[in-house]
Amino acid sequence: MKGTLSLRRNADTPLALQPVSVLRGVGPQLSEKLAQFGLKTLQDLLFHLPLRYIDRTKVSPIGGLQPNSEVVIEGELRAADVVFGRRRSLVCRLQDSTGVVTLRFFHFNRAQQAQLVAGTRLRCFGEVRRGSAGLELYHPEYRTIAGDAPLELEERLTPIYPATEGLTQLRLRDLCSQALARLGGESAGLADLLPAALLPDNSSRYALFDALALLHHPPANTDQGRLACGEHPAQQRLAIEELIAHQLSMLKLRARVQSYAAPALPPETTLSTQFSAGLGFPLTGAQQRVVAEIGRDLAAPRPMLRLLQGDVGAGKTVVAALAALQAIAAGYQAALMAPTEILAEQHRDTLSSWLAPLGIKIGWLSGKQKGKAREVQLAAVADGSAQLIIGTHALFQDEVVFAKLGLTIIDEQHRFGVEQRLTLRRKGFDGSVPHQLIMTATPIPRTLAMSAYADLDCSVIDELPPGRTPVETLALAEQRRSDVMQRVRAACNEGRQAYWVCTLIEESESLAAQAAEATAAELQLQLPELRVALVHGRLKPREKTEIMAQFKAGDIQLLVATTVIEVGVDVPNASLMIIENAERLGLSQLHQLRGRVGRGSAVSHCVLLYAPPLGRIAGERLRTMRATNDGFVIAEKDLELRGPGELLGTRQTGDLQLRIADLQRDGHLLPEARRAAENITREAPQLVEPLLARWLGDRDQYADA
Ligand code: ADP
Ligand code: MG
Repeated sequence: MKGTLSLRRNADTPLALQPVSVLRGVGPQLSEKLAQFGLKTLQDLLFHLPLRYIDRTKVSPIGGLQPNSEVVIEGELRAADVVFGRRRSLVCRLQDSTGVVTLRFFHFNRAQQAQLVAGTRLRCFGEVRRGSAGLELYHPEYRTIAGDAPLELEERLTPIYPATEGLTQLRLRDLCSQALARLGGESAGLADLLPAALLPDNSSRYALFDALALLHHPPANTDQGRLACGEHPAQQRLAIEELIAHQLSMLKLRARVQSYAAPALPPETTLSTQFSAGLGFPLTGAQQRVVAEIGRDLAAPRPMLRLLQGDVGAGKTVVAALAALQAIAAGYQAALMAPTEILAEQHRDTLSSWLAPLGIKIGWLSGKQKGKAREVQLAAVADGSAQLIIGTHALFQDEVVFAKLGLTIIDEQHRFGVEQRLTLRRKGFDGSVPHQLIMTATPIPRTLAMSAYADLDCSVIDELPPGRTPVETLALAEQRRSDVMQRVRAACNEGRQAYWVCTLIEESESLAAQAAEATAAELQLQLPELRVALVHGRLKPREKTEIMAQFKAGDIQLLVATTVIEVGVDVPNASLMIIENAERLGLSQLHQLRGRVGRGSAVSHCVLLYAPPLGRIAGERLRTMRATNDGFVIAEKDLELRGPGELLGTRQTGDLQLRIADLQRDGHLLPEARRAAENITREAPQLVEPLLARWLGDRDQYADA
């Protein structure tokens, strides 16, 4: 890593950025180990905050002990016996004036046995657990107390750090203490950069260094409740500064994007009027609003970077088509990228049916395309004869050269990371950068919109096309499977259609397909009068298309599918969906799947079949699904259950590696952080780089992209 090379001991390097090897006891081997753990500089050590603390500052009365707490106790041994249970153990009873507790040792030697006898006074430290004989401490640390002189106690809470194999708590404590001791002064590079006016009232009384010092070694009287939930002003002091630094990096990224040239694509009416006339439905108010927002951006000579959020079925594709039209009418190409083959095909079909009648040439690039077919497509993209190019990740590949790319549209954005966003941006034309529209059906919770996506402008389609009826959702244990089949039978006999979704644990697609085949066979056996068909990812594209067409035409009544139908399928007459083993799926996937029904005017139902017993999180998910159809509410819940790292996907966690702040805990500070960052950019721009260097270091990598 370039980071390690630049970490030389150097008189010019601020102390905070000096390597850990300047500390006592840190040789090359330990340095390496620390580096692997992300601890390279003294500042890294200071920012390596304890996960929790244990309190060895006071002696707890034995009568008041609670299970699962770590305590210091003192008392006199009442009895000590070797007990032969399942395992031989030395069992002692320790008593003070308030109560008595058991100490249990599974390993003990003769000397200990001789020492731990009735009448001995002990000071112990350990974790209290509920044992067979009431409260017990297993293998407590202990010291005997001789005479009347009281033993000393710690003056500060003891930190427990995030640790890893080969890095013990003792070692980390020593290193952090050394780092603190060295970094006390102004010249250390930990000077306060933020004016107090920018800090929340409660945290403004802490200087950065003092906040760090407190969190490494909290004094005995520190409010432990607030500390445990991250609400101590010292924690907030650090969190807000880090969030401000992140906002600054986002603003910088935005400013950088804005500094590029992009083709100005003037609004156009002929094609779009023709397009709208062919649609067969008027745009909703929300669609019109976002089309106008996008249209204004495209007309400007700066690259648009806009996120289009709209729940499943909100009608984002039409909006994408109108944006593409504006680029094409101005003589540019537009590219539309989808995360899966099925979704890309669906877009190709829909958009061809809308745009081909207007004389627009559609190009197609997929990963499965080979040989001649691929060459033909690549050539059409390169010579400009393909005007709207639709595809999967294949659009990113180096050999794809656009003649005149003016607009990139990315569907289902949550699966694409910043890096991929940037790759496509580089495929600009003549030194200009294409405009970018990113669409997502997974609404982005406010905290994430304000953090991980803060470099983007946002448009929201907050209205569904008319005539949709909310889906009624119920959760049933899988023992009710045969009842559910009767429901399917009844619905189909009424002329409705149904999906049966198999969620599979199988890792391989072929095993998943096999399992789905078995389910389809079983359903056909149980429901012999119904026309049942199966789609899964292993079918040839032509077979898939054919089955989907038959389902759409009503020739198939019950469609058994793997989760491949999550995206794409649009069949308004399908009004019943069964999701098997729903407990295995995440909230956003369940919501996406359910979005396939409720597209017509009949009341739709979604049955979540689950295998009891449900875990806590799975239970919460199913409850949420039953309670609401609102994608934004579901997204917030998803964030709460999974945390931002998982929600953003592995590709994106790099965008948001917070050291100290925690989006769930500190999300409420974001608006404040945003305002502060805007102020600093405007009024104290000289602070930007030092703050970025402190908090992002070499992770401020996108700044140069
Ligand atoms: P999503 O936002 O999930 O991508 P789609 O673009 O697939 O949604 O639209 C879902 C369905 O709604 C499609 O059949 C589409 O043709 C239809 N649709 C879109 N906009 C409207 C509208 N304004 N009025 C009626 N139907 C619409
Ligand atoms: Mg869509």
